[in-house]
Amino acid sequence: MAAGEADIDRCPPGGAEGIQRLAALTGRPAKPLDPAHGQERPRALAVIDEAWCIGCTLCIKACPVDCIVGASKRMHTVIDAQCTGCELCVPACPVDCIAMVPVTGERTGWAAWSTPDAQVARERYDFHRFRVDRAARENDERLAAKAAQKLADLPAHTQHTDPATIERKRAVIEAALARARARREIP
Ligand code: SF4
Ligand code: SF4
Repeated sequence: MAAGEADIDRCPPGGAEGIQRLAALTGRPAKPLDPAHGQERPRALAVIDEAWCIGCTLCIKACPVDCIVGASKRMHTVIDAQCTGCELCVPACPVDCIAMVPVTGERTGWAAWSTPDAQVARERYDFHRFRVDRAARENDERLAAKAAQKLADLPAHTQHTDPATIERKRAVIEAALARARARREIP
């Protein structure tokens, strides 16, 4: 929406009240929810069928608010109070053992959600982004250190490698170093 690429009628979780709020914020006219993007429904929580869970951890990686706990090859579970019902873990599960269970009765949209709930979810999402970015940065730095060492060692290998291959390797290593430098500059 901020980039002018989406209308205000595409958010089923916010429902009709969400569209009214977006209309007030953006100055655009309110309209019904576009059914191509889903239906307004009661809020649901993800529930893992522990009998089928193989502990692959793919749902943990998919969850944008870090509310699934479990270790590799161990049963996983969802922390109900933190689940936003976004459903992103469902397609990530290779054995289809995550179900979305409605928990707000007849209440839908903003009646099934509150401003404090939204605030907590936003904070958890911000921390998730921070954690994922930090892990990627640390990984890049580790690889860059190895790449720098390879670059330093390159002359020792040149007698057995043709010049075109050496140049290609040098370009790959320098690109890895540049990526790590760029990440370090992200605040
Ligand atoms: S539905 Fe969304 S918030 Fe809930 S556990 Fe799945 S990915 Fe996480
Ligand atoms: S994606 Fe499915 S099988 Fe894998 S850990 Fe999560 S619930 Fe278990």
